[in-house]
Amino acid sequence: NYDKNNLLVSNHGRGKSIYANTSLAPKELVKQILLERASRIDTDACDPDEENAFYVADLGEVYRQHMRWKTNLPRVKPFYAVKCNPDAEVIKLLAALGSGFDCASKTEIDQVLGLGVDPSRIIYAQPCKTKSYLRHAANVGVSQITFDNADELYKIRSCYPNAEIVLRILTDDSASLCRLSTKFGADLETAADLLRLAKELDLNVVGVSFHVGSGAADPSAFTKAVTDAKWVFDQAATNGYDLKLLDVGGGFTDETFEVFAAKLNDALVDHFPPHVRIIAEPGRYYTANAFTLATNIIARRDVSSLPSTPRSSDSYGSDISAVSTSEKSYMLYLNDGVYGNFSNIIFDHQHPIAQVLHSNRAADQDKLVEYSIWGPTCDGIDVISEHCYLLGTLDIGDWLFFENMGAYTKCSATRFNGFKDTHEAIYISSEPGASALLGY
Ligand code: PLP
Repeated sequence: NYDKNNLLVSNHGRGKSIYANTSLAPKELVKQILLERASRIDTDACDPDEENAFYVADLGEVYRQHMRWKTNLPRVKPFYAVKCNPDAEVIKLLAALGSGFDCASKTEIDQVLGLGVDPSRIIYAQPCKTKSYLRHAANVGVSQITFDNADELYKIRSCYPNAEIVLRILTDDSASLCRLSTKFGADLETAADLLRLAKELDLNVVGVSFHVGSGAADPSAFTKAVTDAKWVFDQAATNGYDLKLLDVGGGFTDETFEVFAAKLNDALVDHFPPHVRIIAEPGRYYTANAFTLATNIIARRDVSSLPSTPRSSDSYGSDISAVSTSEKSYMLYLNDGVYGNFSNIIFDHQHPIAQVLHSNRAADQDKLVEYSIWGPTCDGIDVISEHCYLLGTLDIGDWLFFENMGAYTKCSATRFNGFKDTHEAIYISSEPGASALLGY
Protein backbone atom coordinates (compact mmCIF):
# COMPACT_ATOMS: atom_id res chain seq x y z
CA ASN A 1 0.00 0.00 0.00
CA TYR A 2 1.25 3.46 -0.76
CA ASP A 3 0.16 5.94 1.86
CA LYS A 4 -0.42 9.62 1.27
CA ASN A 5 3.30 10.39 1.39
CA ASN A 6 4.02 7.86 -1.32
CA LEU A 7 5.75 5.51 1.12
CA LEU A 8 5.24 1.80 0.87
CA VAL A 9 4.09 0.67 4.31
CA SER A 10 4.11 -2.89 5.56
CA ASN A 11 3.83 -4.52 8.94
CA HIS A 12 6.21 -7.18 10.12
CA GLY A 13 5.93 -8.03 13.77
CA ARG A 14 8.26 -5.64 15.57
CA GLY A 15 7.07 -2.50 13.90
CA LYS A 16 6.20 -0.82 10.72
CA SER A 17 8.59 -1.09 7.82
CA ILE A 18 8.53 1.45 5.12
CA TYR A 19 10.24 1.19 1.81
CA ALA A 20 10.88 4.69 0.71
CA ASN A 21 9.56 5.21 -2.75
CA THR A 22 10.38 8.88 -2.69
CA SER A 23 13.03 11.27 -3.81
CA LEU A 24 13.40 12.71 -0.31
CA ALA A 25 16.92 12.79 1.14
CA PRO A 26 17.24 10.11 3.87
CA LYS A 27 17.26 12.58 6.77
CA GLU A 28 14.18 14.35 5.42
CA LEU A 29 12.43 11.03 4.94
CA VAL A 30 13.13 10.08 8.56
CA LYS A 31 11.82 13.42 9.74
CA GLN A 32 8.66 13.04 7.70
CA ILE A 33 7.95 9.65 9.24
CA LEU A 34 8.67 10.90 12.76
CA LEU A 35 6.31 13.78 12.16
CA GLU A 36 3.58 11.63 10.69
CA ARG A 37 3.65 9.30 13.72
CA ALA A 38 3.96 12.06 16.36
CA SER A 39 1.22 14.27 14.95
CA ARG A 40 -1.25 11.36 15.11
CA ILE A 41 -1.06 11.28 18.92
CA ASP A 42 -3.44 13.48 20.87
CA THR A 43 -1.89 13.79 24.33
CA ASP A 44 -5.16 15.25 25.63
CA ALA A 45 -6.97 11.99 24.93
CA CYS A 46 -4.47 9.15 24.38
CA ASP A 47 -4.07 6.03 26.51
CA PRO A 48 -1.12 5.72 28.91
CA ASP A 49 2.15 5.12 26.99
CA GLU A 50 0.69 5.92 23.57
CA GLU A 51 2.77 9.09 23.63
CA ASN A 52 5.97 7.21 24.54
CA ALA A 53 9.24 8.10 22.90
CA PHE A 54 9.87 6.15 19.70
CA TYR A 55 12.61 5.61 17.16
CA VAL A 56 12.70 5.75 13.43
CA ALA A 57 15.51 3.46 12.31
CA ASP A 58 16.75 3.85 8.75
CA LEU A 59 18.42 0.55 7.87
CA GLY A 60 19.58 2.18 4.66
CA GLU A 61 22.18 4.01 6.79
CA VAL A 62 23.56 0.70 8.08
CA TYR A 63 23.70 -0.61 4.52
CA ARG A 64 25.57 2.46 3.27
CA GLN A 65 28.07 2.22 6.13
CA HIS A 66 28.74 -1.38 5.15
CA MET A 67 29.40 -0.44 1.52
CA ARG A 68 31.66 2.38 2.67
CA TRP A 69 33.54 -0.08 4.89
CA LYS A 70 34.09 -2.47 1.98
CA THR A 71 35.41 0.36 -0.19
CA ASN A 72 37.82 1.74 2.40
CA LEU A 73 38.89 -1.39 4.27
CA PRO A 74 38.60 -4.16 1.68
CA ARG A 75 41.02 -6.40 3.56
CA VAL A 76 39.28 -6.10 6.93
CA LYS A 77 36.19 -8.19 7.60
CA PRO A 78 33.79 -6.48 10.02
CA PHE A 79 32.48 -8.43 13.03
CA TYR A 80 29.74 -6.05 14.19
CA ALA A 81 29.91 -5.39 17.97
CA VAL A 82 26.43 -6.49 19.04
CA LYS A 83 26.68 -4.66 22.39
CA CYS A 84 26.51 -1.33 20.62
CA ASN A 85 22.94 -1.89 19.47
CA PRO A 86 21.54 -5.43 19.50
CA ASP A 87 18.47 -4.40 17.49
CA ALA A 88 17.09 -7.46 15.71
CA GLU A 89 16.66 -5.72 12.34
CA VAL A 90 20.23 -4.38 12.42
CA ILE A 91 21.60 -7.84 13.19
CA LYS A 92 19.39 -9.38 10.50
CA LEU A 93 20.62 -6.93 7.86
CA LEU A 94 24.28 -7.33 8.80
CA ALA A 95 23.92 -11.11 8.81
CA ALA A 96 22.47 -10.91 5.29
CA LEU A 97 25.34 -8.64 4.23
CA GLY A 98 27.82 -11.29 5.34
CA SER A 99 29.19 -9.49 8.40
CA GLY A 100 30.63 -11.39 11.34
CA PHE A 101 29.68 -10.58 14.94
CA ASP A 102 31.55 -9.66 18.11
CA CYS A 103 29.57 -11.05 21.05
CA ALA A 104 30.24 -10.34 24.71
CA SER A 105 27.83 -12.71 26.47
CA LYS A 106 25.73 -15.84 26.13
CA THR A 107 22.65 -13.80 25.22
CA GLU A 108 24.44 -12.04 22.37
CA ILE A 109 25.85 -15.32 21.08
CA ASP A 110 22.40 -16.93 21.14
CA GLN A 111 20.77 -13.95 19.45
CA VAL A 112 23.17 -14.14 16.52
CA LEU A 113 23.08 -17.93 16.26
CA GLY A 114 19.28 -17.73 16.36
CA LEU A 115 19.37 -15.99 12.99
CA GLY A 116 21.14 -18.96 11.48
CA VAL A 117 24.59 -17.33 11.47
CA ASP A 118 27.39 -19.91 11.43
CA PRO A 119 29.39 -19.96 14.71
CA SER A 120 32.58 -19.34 12.70
CA ARG A 121 31.23 -15.83 12.04
CA ILE A 122 31.27 -15.02 15.78
CA ILE A 123 34.12 -13.95 18.00
CA TYR A 124 33.47 -14.07 21.74
CA ALA A 125 35.47 -10.92 22.39
CA GLN A 126 35.29 -10.57 26.15
CA PRO A 127 38.69 -11.30 27.72
CA CYS A 128 37.22 -12.06 31.16
CA LYS A 129 34.41 -14.53 30.66
CA THR A 130 31.88 -16.32 32.88
CA LYS A 131 32.84 -20.00 33.08
CA SER A 132 29.35 -21.27 32.23
CA TYR A 133 29.27 -18.96 29.19
CA LEU A 134 32.60 -20.38 28.08
CA ARG A 135 31.18 -23.91 28.31
CA HIS A 136 28.15 -22.67 26.37
CA ALA A 137 30.42 -21.25 23.64
CA ALA A 138 32.07 -24.69 23.44
CA ASN A 139 28.69 -26.43 23.19
CA VAL A 140 27.43 -24.20 20.38
CA GLY A 141 30.75 -24.18 18.50
CA VAL A 142 31.79 -20.53 18.90
CA SER A 143 35.50 -21.24 18.91
CA GLN A 144 37.14 -17.80 18.48
CA ILE A 145 37.54 -16.22 21.90
CA THR A 146 39.79 -13.56 23.39
CA PHE A 147 41.91 -13.57 26.56
CA ASP A 148 44.39 -11.21 28.21
CA ASN A 149 45.54 -12.78 31.47
CA ALA A 150 46.91 -15.99 33.00
CA ASP A 151 43.81 -16.85 35.06
CA GLU A 152 41.73 -16.78 31.91
CA LEU A 153 44.15 -19.22 30.25
CA TYR A 154 43.66 -21.71 33.10
CA LYS A 155 39.90 -21.20 32.83
CA ILE A 156 40.00 -21.83 29.07
CA ARG A 157 42.07 -24.97 29.60
CA SER A 158 39.44 -26.38 31.95
CA CYS A 159 36.31 -25.23 30.05
CA TYR A 160 37.26 -25.09 26.37
CA PRO A 161 40.78 -26.48 25.77
CA ASN A 162 40.55 -26.60 21.97
CA ALA A 163 39.23 -23.04 21.53
CA GLU A 164 40.95 -20.77 19.01
CA ILE A 165 42.24 -18.14 21.37
CA VAL A 166 43.16 -14.55 20.54
CA LEU A 167 45.47 -12.51 22.76
CA ARG A 168 44.15 -9.00 23.43
CA ILE A 169 46.89 -6.44 23.91
CA LEU A 170 46.86 -3.01 25.48
CA THR A 171 46.61 0.14 23.36
CA ASP A 172 47.11 3.82 23.96
CA ASP A 173 43.42 4.82 24.08
CA SER A 174 43.99 8.11 25.91
CA ALA A 175 42.39 10.12 23.08
CA SER A 176 39.20 8.06 22.90
CA LEU A 177 35.71 8.85 24.21
CA CYS A 178 35.40 5.57 26.13
CA ARG A 179 38.66 4.07 27.36
CA LEU A 180 38.80 0.29 27.44
CA SER A 181 42.50 -0.37 28.08
CA THR A 182 42.11 0.61 31.74
CA LYS A 183 40.18 -2.65 32.05
CA PHE A 184 41.42 -4.98 29.33
CA GLY A 185 44.54 -5.85 27.38
CA ALA A 186 47.97 -7.25 28.18
CA ASP A 187 51.06 -5.06 27.91
CA LEU A 188 53.80 -6.41 25.66
CA GLU A 189 55.87 -7.91 28.45
CA THR A 190 52.83 -9.71 29.87
CA ALA A 191 51.83 -10.78 26.35
CA ALA A 192 55.17 -12.57 25.94
CA ASP A 193 54.65 -14.34 29.30
CA LEU A 194 51.10 -15.34 28.32
CA LEU A 195 52.30 -16.89 25.06
CA ARG A 196 54.80 -19.01 26.98
CA LEU A 197 52.12 -20.08 29.45
CA ALA A 198 49.62 -20.86 26.67
CA LYS A 199 52.23 -23.12 25.07
CA GLU A 200 52.84 -24.90 28.38
CA LEU A 201 49.08 -25.44 28.73
CA ASP A 202 48.93 -26.74 25.16
CA LEU A 203 46.39 -24.10 24.11
CA ASN A 204 45.68 -23.04 20.55
CA VAL A 205 46.63 -19.34 20.20
CA VAL A 206 45.57 -18.21 16.72
CA GLY A 207 45.84 -14.45 16.77
CA VAL A 208 46.08 -11.04 18.40
CA SER A 209 43.39 -8.44 19.05
CA PHE A 210 43.26 -4.90 20.33
CA HIS A 211 40.80 -2.01 20.71
CA VAL A 212 41.97 1.62 20.43
CA GLY A 213 39.03 2.82 22.56
CA SER A 214 35.46 3.57 21.54
CA GLY A 215 35.03 6.90 19.79
CA ALA A 216 38.74 7.05 19.01
CA ALA A 217 40.15 10.47 18.13
CA ASP A 218 43.78 9.72 17.28
CA PRO A 219 44.32 7.64 14.11
CA SER A 220 47.97 7.05 15.00
CA ALA A 221 46.69 4.81 17.84
CA PHE A 222 46.06 2.26 15.05
CA THR A 223 49.62 2.59 13.73
CA LYS A 224 51.07 1.91 17.18
CA ALA A 225 48.63 -0.92 17.95
CA VAL A 226 49.30 -2.70 14.62
CA THR A 227 53.06 -2.35 15.20
CA ASP A 228 52.68 -3.84 18.69
CA ALA A 229 50.52 -6.66 17.31
CA LYS A 230 53.26 -7.48 14.81
CA TRP A 231 55.75 -7.67 17.68
CA VAL A 232 53.44 -10.15 19.44
CA PHE A 233 53.13 -12.21 16.22
CA ASP A 234 56.94 -12.45 16.12
CA GLN A 235 57.07 -13.33 19.80
CA ALA A 236 54.47 -16.05 19.24
CA ALA A 237 56.60 -17.52 16.46
CA THR A 238 59.49 -17.94 18.90
CA ASN A 239 57.09 -19.95 21.07
CA GLY A 240 56.14 -22.22 18.20
CA TYR A 241 52.87 -20.51 17.19
CA ASP A 242 52.04 -19.56 13.60
CA LEU A 243 49.43 -16.85 14.13
CA LYS A 244 46.94 -16.25 11.34
CA LEU A 245 44.43 -13.71 12.72
CA LEU A 246 44.63 -10.03 13.59
CA ASP A 247 41.53 -8.40 15.14
CA VAL A 248 41.81 -4.58 15.03
CA GLY A 249 38.76 -4.01 17.26
CA GLY A 250 36.39 -1.03 17.05
CA GLY A 251 36.73 2.69 17.66
CA PHE A 252 35.68 3.87 14.18
CA THR A 253 33.29 6.79 13.84
CA ASP A 254 31.18 8.05 10.97
CA GLU A 255 32.93 11.43 10.93
CA THR A 256 36.53 10.23 10.83
CA PHE A 257 36.22 6.84 9.16
CA GLU A 258 38.23 7.50 5.97
CA VAL A 259 41.16 9.03 7.89
CA PHE A 260 41.32 6.11 10.32
CA ALA A 261 40.89 3.56 7.55
CA ALA A 262 43.81 5.05 5.58
CA LYS A 263 46.09 4.92 8.63
CA LEU A 264 45.05 1.38 9.40
CA ASN A 265 45.57 0.23 5.80
CA ASP A 266 49.08 1.72 5.75
CA ALA A 267 49.99 -0.05 8.98
CA LEU A 268 48.59 -3.36 7.73
CA VAL A 269 50.54 -3.13 4.47
CA ASP A 270 53.72 -2.38 6.43
CA HIS A 271 53.41 -5.23 8.93
CA PHE A 272 51.03 -7.98 7.86
CA PRO A 273 51.38 -10.11 4.72
CA PRO A 274 48.18 -10.99 2.81
CA HIS A 275 47.85 -14.48 4.28
CA VAL A 276 47.08 -13.02 7.72
CA ARG A 277 43.31 -12.73 8.12
CA ILE A 278 42.25 -9.30 9.37
CA ILE A 279 38.96 -8.71 11.17
CA ALA A 280 37.53 -5.74 13.14
CA GLU A 281 34.77 -5.18 15.70
CA PRO A 282 33.03 -1.94 14.66
CA GLY A 283 29.94 -0.93 16.61
CA ARG A 284 29.19 2.79 16.72
CA TYR A 285 30.30 3.33 13.12
CA TYR A 286 27.50 1.10 11.82
CA THR A 287 24.50 2.24 13.85
CA ALA A 288 25.01 5.68 15.43
CA ASN A 289 23.35 7.69 12.67
CA ALA A 290 20.73 5.08 11.72
CA PHE A 291 18.44 5.77 14.70
CA THR A 292 16.52 8.98 15.40
CA LEU A 293 14.53 9.34 18.61
CA ALA A 294 11.30 11.33 19.05
CA THR A 295 10.26 12.35 22.56
CA ASN A 296 7.20 14.06 23.93
CA ILE A 297 7.24 17.11 26.22
CA ILE A 298 5.26 15.97 29.25
CA ALA A 299 5.77 18.98 31.50
CA ARG A 300 7.14 22.49 31.46
CA ARG A 301 8.29 24.97 34.09
CA ASP A 302 8.64 28.70 33.47
CA VAL A 303 11.98 29.83 34.92
CA SER A 304 12.17 33.17 33.15
CA SER A 305 12.91 35.01 36.37
CA LEU A 306 16.14 33.08 36.92
CA PRO A 307 19.24 34.91 35.61
CA SER A 308 21.20 33.29 32.78
CA THR A 309 23.76 34.15 30.14
CA PRO A 310 24.41 32.26 26.89
CA ARG A 311 27.47 30.03 27.02
CA SER A 312 29.85 29.00 24.24
CA SER A 313 28.79 25.36 24.77
CA ASP A 314 25.11 26.09 24.18
CA SER A 315 23.50 23.93 21.55
CA TYR A 316 21.16 25.33 18.95
CA GLY A 317 18.82 22.68 17.60
CA SER A 318 17.47 25.03 14.94
CA ASP A 319 18.63 27.28 12.17
CA ILE A 320 19.38 30.38 14.21
CA SER A 321 20.35 32.86 11.55
CA ALA A 322 18.86 36.32 12.02
CA VAL A 323 16.44 35.65 14.84
CA SER A 324 15.96 37.42 18.10
CA THR A 325 16.04 35.89 21.55
CA SER A 326 13.00 35.66 23.79
CA GLU A 327 13.07 36.97 27.34
CA LYS A 328 11.45 33.74 28.45
CA SER A 329 13.18 30.56 29.55
CA TYR A 330 11.78 27.16 30.50
CA MET A 331 12.61 23.77 31.89
CA LEU A 332 11.17 21.06 29.63
CA TYR A 333 10.49 17.54 30.93
CA LEU A 334 10.50 14.74 28.34
CA ASN A 335 9.18 11.19 28.58
CA ASP A 336 12.68 9.76 28.06
CA GLY A 337 15.91 10.50 29.89
CA VAL A 338 19.30 9.27 31.02
CA TYR A 339 17.77 6.22 32.69
CA GLY A 340 16.19 5.41 29.31
CA ASN A 341 17.37 5.91 25.75
CA PHE A 342 19.56 8.85 26.76
CA SER A 343 21.77 6.47 28.74
CA ASN A 344 24.41 7.44 26.17
CA ILE A 345 24.83 10.73 28.05
CA ILE A 346 26.02 8.85 31.14
CA PHE A 347 27.77 5.81 29.67
CA ASP A 348 28.94 7.11 26.32
CA HIS A 349 29.71 10.77 27.09
CA GLN A 350 27.36 12.02 24.37
CA HIS A 351 25.60 15.38 24.10
CA PRO A 352 22.43 14.74 22.07
CA ILE A 353 21.11 17.84 20.31
CA ALA A 354 17.38 18.57 20.59
CA GLN A 355 15.48 19.67 17.50
CA VAL A 356 11.82 20.65 17.28
CA LEU A 357 9.72 18.01 15.55
CA HIS A 358 6.13 19.01 16.08
CA SER A 359 4.51 21.80 17.97
CA ASN A 360 0.77 22.26 18.34
CA ARG A 361 0.80 25.67 19.82
CA ALA A 362 4.33 27.08 19.57
CA ALA A 363 4.22 30.79 20.08
CA ASP A 364 7.03 33.18 19.13
CA GLN A 365 8.12 30.90 16.28
CA ASP A 366 10.56 33.55 15.09
CA LYS A 367 12.33 33.81 18.44
CA LEU A 368 15.03 31.74 20.07
CA VAL A 369 13.88 30.54 23.45
CA GLU A 370 16.19 29.27 26.16
CA TYR A 371 15.55 25.82 27.62
CA SER A 372 16.99 23.17 29.84
CA ILE A 373 15.77 19.66 29.02
CA TRP A 374 15.12 16.95 31.61
CA GLY A 375 14.08 13.30 31.72
CA PRO A 376 10.94 11.91 33.40
CA THR A 377 12.43 10.35 36.56
CA CYS A 378 12.60 11.94 39.99
CA ASP A 379 16.41 12.07 39.93
CA GLY A 380 18.25 15.37 39.44
CA ILE A 381 20.96 13.61 37.40
CA ASP A 382 18.31 12.97 34.75
CA VAL A 383 19.20 15.95 32.55
CA ILE A 384 19.47 15.79 28.77
CA SER A 385 20.63 19.33 28.10
CA GLU A 386 21.44 21.89 30.76
CA HIS A 387 21.21 24.80 28.37
CA CYS A 388 20.03 25.08 24.80
CA TYR A 389 18.08 27.35 22.49
CA LEU A 390 15.19 26.28 20.28
CA LEU A 391 12.95 28.27 17.99
CA GLY A 392 9.60 29.15 19.52
CA THR A 393 7.91 28.68 22.88
CA LEU A 394 7.23 24.97 23.16
CA ASP A 395 4.40 23.58 25.19
CA ILE A 396 3.26 20.36 26.85
CA GLY A 397 2.37 17.76 24.21
CA ASP A 398 4.90 19.06 21.66
CA TRP A 399 7.60 16.77 20.29
CA LEU A 400 11.40 17.00 20.05
CA PHE A 401 13.70 14.73 18.08
CA PHE A 402 17.33 13.74 18.43
CA GLU A 403 19.50 12.38 15.62
CA ASN A 404 22.47 9.99 16.01
CA MET A 405 20.83 7.93 18.74
CA GLY A 406 21.75 4.47 17.44
CA ALA A 407 24.84 3.59 19.50
CA TYR A 408 24.93 2.71 23.21
CA THR A 409 21.42 4.11 23.83
CA LYS A 410 18.49 1.71 24.19
CA CYS A 411 20.79 -1.23 24.99
CA SER A 412 21.78 0.43 28.28
CA ALA A 413 18.33 1.79 29.20
CA THR A 414 16.91 0.88 32.63
CA ARG A 415 13.44 0.59 34.12
CA PHE A 416 14.13 3.06 36.92
CA ASN A 417 10.96 4.74 38.27
CA GLY A 418 8.81 2.20 36.49
CA PHE A 419 9.42 3.50 33.00
CA LYS A 420 9.69 1.01 30.16
CA ASP A 421 13.15 0.15 28.88
CA THR A 422 11.95 -0.60 25.38
CA HIS A 423 10.60 1.75 22.80
CA GLU A 424 8.90 1.20 19.53
CA ALA A 425 10.99 1.53 16.43
CA ILE A 426 9.59 2.24 13.00
CA TYR A 427 11.97 0.61 10.57
CA ILE A 428 12.50 2.12 7.19
CA SER A 429 15.02 1.73 4.45
CA SER A 430 16.22 4.61 2.32
CA GLU A 431 18.34 2.15 0.34
CA PRO A 432 16.80 -0.37 -2.08
CA GLY A 433 19.66 -2.84 -1.42
CA ALA A 434 18.76 -2.98 2.28
CA SER A 435 15.03 -3.17 1.55
CA ALA A 436 15.58 -6.18 -0.68
CA LEU A 437 17.63 -8.02 1.97
CA LEU A 438 15.11 -7.25 4.72
CA GLY A 439 12.01 -7.94 2.70
CA TYR A 440 10.66 -4.40 3.18
N1 PLP B 1 34.89 -4.61 20.68
C1 PLP B 1 34.97 -4.56 22.02
C2 PLP B 1 35.72 -5.64 22.72
C3 PLP B 1 34.38 -3.50 22.75
O1 PLP B 1 34.47 -3.46 24.07
C4 PLP B 1 33.68 -2.51 22.01
C5 PLP B 1 33.04 -1.37 22.72
O2 PLP B 1 33.04 -1.24 23.90
C6 PLP B 1 33.58 -2.62 20.62
C7 PLP B 1 34.22 -3.66 19.98
C8 PLP B 1 32.84 -1.62 19.78
O3 PLP B 1 33.50 -0.41 19.77
P1 PLP B 1 32.99 0.78 18.85
O4 PLP B 1 31.57 0.98 19.10
O5 PLP B 1 33.83 1.93 19.28
O6 PLP B 1 33.30 0.43 17.42
